[in-house]
Amino acid sequence: MVDPMNLTETPTSAPALRIDNPATGEHVGTVPVSSPADVGAAADRARAAQPAWEGLGIRQRRRVLARFHDLLFERQGEILDTVQRESGKTRREALGELLAIAGTARYYLAHGEGYLASESHAGASPFITGARVVYRPHGVVGFITPWNYPFILSIGDALPALLAGNAVVIKPSELTPLSAELARTLLVDSGLAEDLVQLVHGYGAVGATLIEHVDYISFTGSVATGRKVAMAAAGRLIPSSLELGGKNPMIVLEGASLDDAVSGLMSGAFYNTGQTCIAVERVYVQSSIFDRFADLARRRTEELEIGWSLDWDIDVGSLISREHSDKVMGHIDDAVTRGATVLTGGERRPDLGPTFVAPTLLTGVEDSMELSCEETFGPVVALYPVADAEEAVARANDTAYGLNASVWTGDKRTSQALAQRIEAGSVGINSTLLIYATYDVPMGGVKQSGIGRRHGRPGIRRFTRSQSIVDSVAKGGGYEGILTRITSQSRADKLARAFKLMRHIPGLR
Ligand code: NAD
Repeated sequence: MVDPMNLTETPTSAPALRIDNPATGEHVGTVPVSSPADVGAAADRARAAQPAWEGLGIRQRRRVLARFHDLLFERQGEILDTVQRESGKTRREALGELLAIAGTARYYLAHGEGYLASESHAGASPFITGARVVYRPHGVVGFITPWNYPFILSIGDALPALLAGNAVVIKPSELTPLSAELARTLLVDSGLAEDLVQLVHGYGAVGATLIEHVDYISFTGSVATGRKVAMAAAGRLIPSSLELGGKNPMIVLEGASLDDAVSGLMSGAFYNTGQTCIAVERVYVQSSIFDRFADLARRRTEELEIGWSLDWDIDVGSLISREHSDKVMGHIDDAVTRGATVLTGGERRPDLGPTFVAPTLLTGVEDSMELSCEETFGPVVALYPVADAEEAVARANDTAYGLNASVWTGDKRTSQALAQRIEAGSVGINSTLLIYATYDVPMGGVKQSGIGRRHGRPGIRRFTRSQSIVDSVAKGGGYEGILTRITSQSRADKLARAFKLMRHIPGLR
């Protein structure tokens, strides 16, 4: 029999998830795996608690979010240690997670109420009809999240969902459940009822079970899993959003400051050890400046401090697991075997541990190599010389993905024009990862990088269903009654004349 969810590939019998620091092997925690009955019970409790939360109104709900925001800073040390210990990332990157969550909370504290306020609209006919749109929560929203930003991604999208009046059930990655546990504790310590924010743990099967119980599913992860989640959501006819992977291009043309562009590349490609959905993985540099760019990029890459510590002295941390380092090295080895050239890196760092791969720059990457089109999700970048902007845009768009891109030209108008020719949900001018911290604009993918948007107005509206309330004067059976009163040609002509005139009344829609 066909297994459309392809769940047989994931272990389901493990009683607990054992979490070890990927950088050091130190054991850092254990969480129980949720059974299907546990998942159903969590959703039931969430469903029972949700109406009272919705009934509180958004002003009361904001208070919890405000306390949560402040608690982030009071418990900063604990948060950073937890995130670092289960992911192997650097102190700065863990701080980045905290700041992003605080930024999201602040943004929706400031704008959430306005985005969810009911709106008055034109009725079917002036004077005798009216219309309002109200935004009501779905009920129980499920989140299935990945490991690369275990704090941001497990709770960041849940904040607007909660503010909108939903209860949430979160299935964090099986590799990083501890940051999600801490985020939940902080929300409960901020005054949120325990049943309104629940966690279920385990492998893919637990995520699949969660989809069966919720009213909306928000998924962040790989394209392959996103496709399965979309099919499961379609089967239940529940709405969903999918934040998926990328193979994000960077374009550098004559006129750009090479120093600035290389700095952008260092953070765009190597932040979070390249394990960022919006990370730069392909760089198209105009031929006339290619050698200088590549040489500077190589020197700056070789200056990066690699390792892991709870201090602030490391630039590039560990990959998430031995298995993931095998995948990253597989991409590098395949490219090298087929003729690519390593400018720097290209190897493991066994002196640091089995999960460390040196930041790597490659040239001569051809279409036939895995690295050229598949998401590597590691500290690996391919540099390509291009003749001009035309070739850069064509090659940037030659991908199944469309998440993020970056443009460096030295001229604002040129960059703006170029940005609009790139098929990606977001484009940074003189920046690579800026989109994530720009909470006022929607963020998401096109093509296979996803469906739906986080942040901005859509980032909270998606957790609601609009309800249109139309009203009419009751006289004669309401607006619809008008037609029942047409009993002669002269009455029909009178009505037609009135309707025709409406086009000339200013302000009428
Ligand atoms: P993944 O797709 O392997 O897993 C993501 C989550 O889905 C995990 O919690 C996993 O247990 C769960 N899952 C697995 N199979 C499932 C199934 N059949 N049904 C329901 N849930 C299932 O992804 P990952 O390796 O954890 O994360 C890395 C990927 O996430 C990369 O592709 C990266 O680009 C992407 N990502 C995207 C964004 C974005 O905002 N666009 C952000 C971060 C990461």
